[in-house]
Amino acid sequence: RFITLEGGEGVGKTTQLRALADALGARGIDVVTTREPGGSEGAEAIRRLLLEGGEDRWSAPAEALLFAAARTDHVDKLVRPAVLAGKWVISDRFIDSSLAYQGGAGDLGIEAVRAINAFGIEEWFPDRTLLLLHPEGAERARARDGDAADRIGGRPASYHQGVEQAFRDIAAAEPDRVRLIDASGTPADVTARLLAALDDLL
Ligand code: C5P
Ligand code: MG
Repeated sequence: RFITLEGGEGVGKTTQLRALADALGARGIDVVTTREPGGSEGAEAIRRLLLEGGEDRWSAPAEALLFAAARTDHVDKLVRPAVLAGKWVISDRFIDSSLAYQGGAGDLGIEAVRAINAFGIEEWFPDRTLLLLHPEGAERARARDGDAADRIGGRPASYHQGVEQAFRDIAAAEPDRVRLIDASGTPADVTARLLAALDDLL
């Protein structure tokens, strides 16, 4: 199985990835955790190109293609081999981040970004995507990371609102794949909600 955790900044994706992997491991599932941008040697190199440059390093289409190239390598080198070997792969971000950030909140549009990614990943869409929603996510990320909370450019609050709206639109269009998860409450509460949203796959 291939599961992805999605959502804006500071909603708890990285924390929940570890907790979810532990919970699935305790059920005897062979779990591989990974992240985007990154997850393979080549994709991590592209991550550095994306995150270490200034705001104006890449044009919007070039940036979207770099994310898609990183994702393609990640699928080819890690996701596909692990799933075919019978493992569960859980990724901190995947295609829906590109659809929401570069497509929905950026200027490219969700369908253009879906098209370049579909070329790269072919049928390797996630079996289930858990969309974490937390009303104070952006504030938490800023408190945690300071200016580094927004490593690709100094994005205004309206951009982050666009990201969340795009995520919600994607979830509404694909309700079987994408499940909305209330990410407020204790970390254990959230992990329980994530597991419940995987119940039919277990
Ligand atoms: O998930 P993580 O915090 O590692 O993401 C790193 C940065 O990359 C964040 O600032 C996020 O907004 C940005 N990002 C992006 N477009 C994506 C994925 C992540 O701008 N498709
Ligand atoms: Mg994180």
